[in-house]
Amino acid sequence: MTARRNMPSPGHVFLITNGFRCSHCGATCLPTMPSPVDVFVAAGKAFSKLHRGCPKPVPKPGPEFTTVEAWRAGWDTGLSSLAIYTHMKGGIPRHDTHPRDPDDFGRCYRLLKIAPEWRARIAEVGAHGLAWEAIATHWDELERLYEEELPTKVAPKLYALMQVLLAPAEARVS
Ligand SMILES: [Zn+2]
Repeated sequence: MTARRNMPSPGHVFLITNGFRCSHCGATCLPTMPSPVDVFVAAGKAFSKLHRGCPKPVPKPGPEFTTVEAWRAGWDTGLSSLAIYTHMKGGIPRHDTHPRDPDDFGRCYRLLKIAPEWRARIAEVGAHGLAWEAIATHWDELERLYEEELPTKVAPKLYALMQVLLAPAEARVS
């Protein structure tokens, strides 16, 4: 789910040790080694083209994990959700770790579904800078929009509100 549909999608086909891998569908292409560079490059380009349209896997909306430690070791972490984790564990997250878009917010949302006791304390995270303060004090509203837009897989309202909330903090930084 994203509001930035007009942005080019970053590449999702990667060079791995002995070939290429599509991070969306998990397919790999492993040319016979050693391989002439030209052949290797051509194979990579062909593979990349073949997987250009592979859809990004959509994480399940509900909590995939039942404990925060399982979540921490899993695939659904991000900078801002890890910042919440760090705060709740008594650490001090960096100020620039606030959620920037609905994808970031979604990871935070799912973490807090696993840990409702942390959801109740989300306002505390507002201590970590202006941007976090703006987000944390409007968490109820952000959460409501997230839930409203979740079935549509795009989140223009949530993204718009986040932009409005973050604008003063970002103006201060630049
Ligand atoms: Zn693919």
